Amino acid sequence: MPVVINYKICDLAPECGGIEVCPTGAFFWNKKTKRPDVDNKKCTSCGVCARECPVNAILVATTEKEYQKLLKKVKNDPRSEKELWRERLGCQPGRTPPLATIVTQRNFSKEVLKAKGMIALDVWSEETLDCRYHSLLWDEVKVSEKFKLRKLDGGKYTQLAKKLEATRLPTLLFFKDGQEIGRKEGYLYSKDKALVKKQIKRLLDSS
Ligand code: SF4
Repeated sequence: MPVVINYKICDLAPECGGIEVCPTGAFFWNKKTKRPDVDNKKCTSCGVCARECPVNAILVATTEKEYQKLLKKVKNDPRSEKELWRERLGCQPGRTPPLATIVTQRNFSKEVLKAKGMIALDVWSEETLDCRYHSLLWDEVKVSEKFKLRKLDGGKYTQLAKKLEATRLPTLLFFKDGQEIGRKEGYLYSKDKALVKKQIKRLLDSS
């Protein structure tokens, strides 16, 4: 029983990287529950899936005792789902899109460059507390459902961040049909929210 998935912070995506990298086929997309799942009988506790998860939603144990401990940890996590989403992704789940989609090296092309329509790509660093605090709280500044939010951990995917010239984190980039149409660099303080809102409105008007 080695893997525990914290579904509170999992973005429940069928394209979950864990499915792709699992060497034994233990990690799979569960069509019934519509979420990533693990067949623990096939799992060898190699930990590859956990390293792939950008939000640390996959926890791997090597012993039954450790597994029980992880189950308890996830169950007793005092933070609400809403708080976890805001902390990790700068937005919270709603009934309608957009939820933030995590971008990695693997899906960058599909989720940003080849994506149709408007994309707001928030490049932040999971490791820097300041960066997390002052990264975008999308649900506070978004003015239109037209923009879909993507989040890229620039501290982890440094080459990708460099390629985007997003070296000052957090940086918010706007794309239309895969082309960059604007950006906002640096920390986002409360006073900046109105400015970002205006910027998004301007981009919408001119597109
Ligand atoms: S720990 Fe290894 S074997 Fe188990 S689900 Fe993850 S990648 Fe697959």
